[in-house]
Amino acid sequence: MGSLKIENIRKSFGQVDVLKGIDLEVKDGEFVIFVGPSGCGKSTLLRVIAGLEDATSGDILIDGKKVNNTPPAKRGIAMVFQTYALYPHLSVRDNMGLGLKQAGKPAEEIKERIGIASSMLSLDDYLERRPAELSGGQRQRVAIGRAIVREPQLFLFDEPLSNLDAALRVNTRIEIARLHRQLKATMIYVTHDQVEAMTLADKIVVLNKGRIEQVGSPMELYNAPQTVFVAGFIGSPQ
Ligand code: ADP
Ligand code: MG
Repeated sequence: MGSLKIENIRKSFGQVDVLKGIDLEVKDGEFVIFVGPSGCGKSTLLRVIAGLEDATSGDILIDGKKVNNTPPAKRGIAMVFQTYALYPHLSVRDNMGLGLKQAGKPAEEIKERIGIASSMLSLDDYLERRPAELSGGQRQRVAIGRAIVREPQLFLFDEPLSNLDAALRVNTRIEIARLHRQLKATMIYVTHDQVEAMTLADKIVVLNKGRIEQVGSPMELYNAPQTVFVAGFIGSPQ
């Protein structure tokens, strides 16, 4: 289970209102894409969902349960960042297993989960390497593997492919789509890339200046944009 409800979320940093009342429902297993211009609040919204940032007001519900006061590690969420955020001194195996180890999981179970994730991501042959010995695409797969081993109900991706070159972006995008089908988990995914948005999303959320402009399927947004902003953002190349 991994349904999410966002109710009237507001977030200010000092005088600056970054999120100005966000309401959104995400169904269990849905693939939802957030798009919108730089600075519109996409990362902040992900961080509030993950619990890395407290909202100024409003509620976050996961599977119907309010999690405002639940610490990030207990929300059943895993987040994958643009800048992999791997530990350089640890092997791929230890990078993937660290969170589980800290959570007190038995070594056997950690090994098994790493085995499953690394074979899903074709990382079996790289487990004893350090991040510096991997390509950018492999590093991002390690970061995704580190999320998978935690068996979250909800994955949050913050522009995960934007540091990869074009060919790797396509491969990794296809891999993420396959993982979504395989894991049947809920995924929320921020991107600047229209192709990613149109091909991955069940539902696209267009954000602008801390508000939702429109929510719809890729085809709905493409064929029936409700604002000039949405038409410009979805309809023309960025
Ligand atoms: P996006 O991911 O859509 O590019 P962000 O959520 O990163 O946008 O940022 C939205 C706005 O919030 C920006 O104006 C940014 O400068 C501001 N902001 C984000 N985090 C902080 C912070 N910790 N302190 C102050 N301002 C912040
Ligand atoms: Mg961002």
